[in-house]
Amino acid sequence: MLLKNSKIIVIKIGSSLLVDKNKRVRKKWLTSFAKDVGKLRSKNKKVIIVSSGAIALGCKKMNYNKKNLKLDKSQAIASIGQIELMYLFSEIFSKCKINISQILITLEDTEERKRSINAKRTFENLFKLDYLPIVNENDTIATSEIKYGDNDRLASRVAQITNADMLILLSDVDGLYTKNPKIFKDAKLIKKINNLDKDILNINTKGLTDLGSGGMDTKIEAAKICNLSGCNMIIANGLYLNPIKQIEEKSHCTWFVSKISKLQARKKWIISSVSPKGELLIDDGAKKAIKSGKSLLAAGIKKVIGKFDKGDHIKILDNKNKEFARALSSFSSDEINKIMGCHSNEIQKILGYVSKSEVVHKDDMVEL
Ligand code: GLU
Repeated sequence: MLLKNSKIIVIKIGSSLLVDKNKRVRKKWLTSFAKDVGKLRSKNKKVIIVSSGAIALGCKKMNYNKKNLKLDKSQAIASIGQIELMYLFSEIFSKCKINISQILITLEDTEERKRSINAKRTFENLFKLDYLPIVNENDTIATSEIKYGDNDRLASRVAQITNADMLILLSDVDGLYTKNPKIFKDAKLIKKINNLDKDILNINTKGLTDLGSGGMDTKIEAAKICNLSGCNMIIANGLYLNPIKQIEEKSHCTWFVSKISKLQARKKWIISSVSPKGELLIDDGAKKAIKSGKSLLAAGIKKVIGKFDKGDHIKILDNKNKEFARALSSFSSDEINKIMGCHSNEIQKILGYVSKSEVVHKDDMVEL
């Protein structure tokens, strides 16, 4: 039910789901999970998996104890374990006829805009090729200062970058409780959080940890990131077989409802840019069209000011030089200089390649 309206779903799986306490790989579980993912994909949903387990599988192979590892050693172990992890996914998912690919990300990749746009494009191309992206932090080069260190927050940033509708954090706890259920018998599972900032004040998250690197705190941090990007989030116990089916049928989990829509989140982000890279001066006709909710076409552009790239923040000025909208440009300033004043169906001929027909899409524009 919760997943019905989600088109892009990011699912994070913690190490403890893949490797049990006795260091045994949980292949039966992974097979049941792969079947669930196959079902989502058959309903035309785009799925991204964020999987931990490189260090756990590296430790298993080398017979090391995770607790005693220093950072430099754990990086080498992650490098050994990441291959094991992907081999495991490949073995199990190919049986369900799901092709997989690997994406390793560092904190800098998600924080720097150009790199994150690039990552977004790669995700989209993988969807087009019908490959399922499996993401992990690039533990081998992430140093302690520039490290996520937990895949909860990494997964929420992946959800944000890919414009996902839902992030599912599969962990070894049922969800968020009013207090630590291991200590307090009267602890209650919170099924729905509608207002994260307010609701969280009544919860004692101390000691609410699972076996992975992130406890409840990193999950709440992840929920905050999702909340700002218009993405819903679920914390659920993934230890059961068919964990996604369990969520759909039983809803025994915590659901964080995002207060804003994805479009609102995008517009908020556009308007909050501190330094737009350039300006487009447009004619009255184009201004009228924008005011009635239409996109900005090349025909209505009179002048390009500044130098900017595709995807950069820009200001839209009316013919009195007054800024009336903020936007993300679908073309670079060099391209707009060539196509301004032209009809949209001439763009391909002028530029010599296929491109978008509108210079700024209506969803990428906010009136001031
Ligand atoms: N990236 C780490 C790994 O693959 C896991 C981080 C986490 O447990 O959240 O082992």
